[in-house]
Amino acid sequence: MSLASVKEYFAPDGTEKVLELLETYGDGALIVAGGSFVHGLDARDLLTGVEALIDIQNLGLGQITLEAAGLSIGATVTFSELRQDNEIQTATALGAVRDALNCPPLQIRNVATIGGNIAAACPYFDLPTALMSVDGVVQACGPDGTREIEMQAFFSSLFQNSLVAGEFVTGLLLPPLPGRSSSAFIKLETNANDLAIVNVAVRVSLDESGICQQARVVVGGGVAETPIRATAAETVLQGERMTDELLQSASAEVPSDLQPMSDHRASAAYRSAVAKTLTKRALARALARLD
Ligand SMILES: Cc1cc2nc3c(=O)[nH]c(=O)nc-3n(C[C@H](O)[C@H](O)[C@H](O)COP(=O)(O)OP(=O)(O)OC[C@H]3O[C@@H](n4cnc5c(N)ncnc54)[C@H](O)[C@@H]3O)c2cc1C
Repeated sequence: MSLASVKEYFAPDGTEKVLELLETYGDGALIVAGGSFVHGLDARDLLTGVEALIDIQNLGLGQITLEAAGLSIGATVTFSELRQDNEIQTATALGAVRDALNCPPLQIRNVATIGGNIAAACPYFDLPTALMSVDGVVQACGPDGTREIEMQAFFSSLFQNSLVAGEFVTGLLLPPLPGRSSSAFIKLETNANDLAIVNVAVRVSLDESGICQQARVVVGGGVAETPIRATAAETVLQGERMTDELLQSASAEVPSDLQPMSDHRASAAYRSAVAKTLTKRALARALARLD
């Protein structure tokens, strides 16, 4: 049990102090937000050598604000808090985020933070898939200052994000989306509290005449080491009118972009087949939201 190596617990009230602690403890530091996935990481032997826990709940990163640049969400905002936000509840463009926020059980929604969900880089989580479909941008702070990282570039491999040494996530930005935008998310799991076998989030942004200006098809849940964009499907949708036949053709392209895993939840072949079906359903759900 690697957490036995923990000797220190800090709850700093300023970003500078967090950066100092990250520098002092290096690989021996573990940021903790909601703490709901610490056991999950430990069970996978991913916390070897952790000496100091750095609790970031006192940094004042619990705000959600609607700005010209988009919806700004602090790293320690919980799933429950975000679900109650007016923009999340009402914006058609953010339907996928709304859908994904419903997935974890209530006890987890009340503690799990948005920053922790993203930073864990777990391929089976739901919110990253949804956030990628709406072009979410991760905001990070480190020894060299602040920077923004597109979600797609943020996830580098299994349980690995692209933060550099000494950096941590301070928030997330959901930028305004073009035209008439709508998104939707669907997950298949073995039971209501389980991680995804496959999850899919789609977004279509249509012009006034109903032509697709921009499409996103994102698939997660063990179809690769990270959630991925199914670009072949996106290409089929781009520049076209959203007919039932088109949705069928786009969905049929999804497996060509996947490298699914076989594990105790599902075989690779099953994941591919499910991804195709869920994409068609998610596209139909997103379009229904525009009616
Ligand atoms: C029973 C159960 C059911 C679940 N069901 C679902 C589900 O249906 N769908 C789903 O998507 N998820 C699900 N989850 C996962 C849950 O969403 C995550 O555990 C949660 O989002 C992690 O957030 P946290 O704040 O608790 O992170 P923590 O547990 O505090 O941290 C997780 C990891 O992220 C790092 N970290 C945290 N915050 C930051 C930061 N700001 N900057 C850098 N690194 C940071 C930590 O160092 C750690 O490595 C479930 C979890 C459990 C236990």
